[in-house]
Amino acid sequence: MEIIVLLGAPGSGKGTAAAHLGTESNLRHVSTGALCREALAQGTAWGEAIRPYMDRGELVPDALVLERVGEVLEGLPTGERVLFDGFPRTPGQAQVFEDLLGDSGWRLRHVILLDVAPATLEERLGARMGCEGCGTIYNLHTRAPRVAGICDACGAALSQRGDDQLATIRRRIQVYEDRTAPLVRYYQERGLLRRIDAGKPADEVARQIRDIVDRDGQAND
Ligand code: AMP
Repeated sequence: MEIIVLLGAPGSGKGTAAAHLGTESNLRHVSTGALCREALAQGTAWGEAIRPYMDRGELVPDALVLERVGEVLEGLPTGERVLFDGFPRTPGQAQVFEDLLGDSGWRLRHVILLDVAPATLEERLGARMGCEGCGTIYNLHTRAPRVAGICDACGAALSQRGDDQLATIRRRIQVYEDRTAPLVRYYQERGLLRRIDAGKPADEVARQIRDIVDRDGQAND
């Protein structure tokens, strides 16, 4: 019952890495960003409550996110390894997460920081396209689809995320610096932080994460 957290700025490649790992490493992937987008698309009451924050590139308030994460944790089958992508994102979320885990018998094993230069983040997010069918992520510069606008894997249309417009991208990176970056220190102090160079190609990033996740060593920075 282990949990691994991927920590990193928007565009650091958390979702791409999780997709690579999920198919190979027997890890269940929980992305709070994907849960948020799903709720928006379905128009649930929770989705409508978070919509204004998502549209502005702001974080959804802790209480709302924690409500959803609590439900997800309750539904997870025991005995699995779970990769959280995009959660926790504030010290407040991290503290409540710790309490939730303590009560449930889950153990936070590693927090893996995907380290990327700020200039690369903007460039990556501006060129990102996602498949509306299977969710495969493309980059128009480094991983373009064979046919423009069409997913190589399933043939569905590709689209840009609503929050991947330049002004919103900049806001999201700033929000990361202000509200999420303090978690680096928080987890460093708890001996859980592992830092990897995520400026490398996606398969190399996935390999570095796999090395940490599959190695049964002590966490350190
Ligand atoms: P992501 O796909 O991880 O970049 O998340 C997209 C958006 O979902 C963020 O900009 C936030 O508005 C919202 N979101 C996702 N995860 C969280 C979280 N842990 N706390 C607050 N807001 C979140």
